[in-house]
Amino acid sequence: MSVPDSTPPSPTAPEAFDAIVVGGGFAGVRAARDLGDAGRSVLLIEARDRLGGRVWTRPFAGRETPIEAGGTWISTDVHPFTAEEVERYGFALRVSHAGEVSTRWSLGGELVHGFPLERGELYELERALFEVIRASHRIDVDVPRDEQDLADLDISVADFVDALDPGIRVREFLYMWAGLGSGALPSEWSMLTALSLIAAMDNSVYGWYGAVTDAFEHGISQVVETVAADSGARIELSTPVARIEQDGDRVVVSAEDGRSWSAPTAVVAVPIALWPEIEFAPALPADKLEPARRGHPGRMKKTWMIVEGIPDNLYASGWGTEFVQMFPEGADRDGLVTLGMCAPPSDLDPHDLEAVTRAVRQLAPEGRVLATDLEDWATDPFARGTWYVPPPGVLSGYHSALGRAEGRLSFAGADVAVRWIGWIDGALETGARAAREAIARLAG
Ligand SMILES: Cc1cc2nc3c(=O)[nH]c(=O)nc-3n(C[C@H](O)[C@H](O)[C@H](O)COP(=O)(O)OP(=O)(O)OC[C@H]3O[C@@H](n4cnc5c(N)ncnc54)[C@H](O)[C@@H]3O)c2cc1C
Repeated sequence: MSVPDSTPPSPTAPEAFDAIVVGGGFAGVRAARDLGDAGRSVLLIEARDRLGGRVWTRPFAGRETPIEAGGTWISTDVHPFTAEEVERYGFALRVSHAGEVSTRWSLGGELVHGFPLERGELYELERALFEVIRASHRIDVDVPRDEQDLADLDISVADFVDALDPGIRVREFLYMWAGLGSGALPSEWSMLTALSLIAAMDNSVYGWYGAVTDAFEHGISQVVETVAADSGARIELSTPVARIEQDGDRVVVSAEDGRSWSAPTAVVAVPIALWPEIEFAPALPADKLEPARRGHPGRMKKTWMIVEGIPDNLYASGWGTEFVQMFPEGADRDGLVTLGMCAPPSDLDPHDLEAVTRAVRQLAPEGRVLATDLEDWATDPFARGTWYVPPPGVLSGYHSALGRAEGRLSFAGADVAVRWIGWIDGALETGARAAREAIARLAG
């Protein structure tokens, strides 16, 4: 008779692993993969019925055309951790807006073809960008911002821009970039966040958003699945974690459904807005909970549309328009598969086809919308916002606390990144760092 080499877990003895990773977004799968590479047994627990979190490749509702409902664009030039994954697995990339684009801008209610600013406005823009780039040079992107003397920059984007006193159209031009980079109002998010991303982009204002145009050819979800499969981890989907308890020897992670698992170490890789909803024992310290409870203002509605009547190389931007940016990303049997980035103050209902057609016509008067699709990350219970956009006071007050280990727990996620805060590369950066910490803990 064969004897099983492990005893089935009893209700009082949770099944044991070397490490448990909570959250199966990019940060979680990277942590699991690195732990797997180190020969460790890993349990990856994910609340949703899929991996990927805030990245998700899925078909446009009612159609076969795939869309990226969440994070999409990367650059192997400036995103080192993403470049590592591209190199390791040989993922194919495609470029958005390749070739000549038909540029349109709407500022102050006026729609123009080409670049919208002229004459004296160009000097105003130059002066404003000089101040922005000068401030970005004060930042060391590899050091948490609260360990640098940067508190004077941790003010709202609106306060920083308004202090430069640009004319109305230059201000709107800058606000459009800020809206696109955040999905928040200029009054709601921190200039130190914006400057950190500009600094991470080699101090380029344009490059921070405009030069990150690569996407994964076969969809970003395939990337997540590949990394997760390579980890060798056991994966529990549809399993929201309710409690994480640690003592001197081990961590016990319990799911909402009552199941528990234990390990000498764990990685918490959920969005920070979700920390207050998990019961930590002992409780998380105040310098983690305070910024987590503040949440963040990022609520971009990444609205996918089937549009007819617009040029297939349209690249339109605006402020005071419902969409801060709009461009086609491909074609469907009925029209162009077009993306509209809808940032506050717009309260456009993306499911109201007539309202969305009016929104499209602010930038392309010839357009007609046939269908729309959107993932609402701001109301998603496991995201509670789009990409993390720290409000004023968080980075200069708490940045190092966000990613700091607590006992046997390491913390990962784009939200706690040091370099690409809120970006896919930041998620990978922190997954790698959390795995290193966990491996060191396991080695004693
Ligand atoms: C619309 C949109 C557009 C974006 N565009 C870009 C872009 O172009 N480029 C870019 O670099 N970044 C972009 N981002 C940001 C980027 O997608 C995210 O920052 C990154 O994917 C976050 O990864 P993460 O692993 O830190 O968190 P997440 O992806 O949020 O993963 C966390 C995981 O934890 C799970 N979880 C939550 N609570 C629990 C619980 N209690 N128990 C178990 N599991 C739980 C969640 O379900 C989720 O799967 C975008 C984001 C959005 C939403």
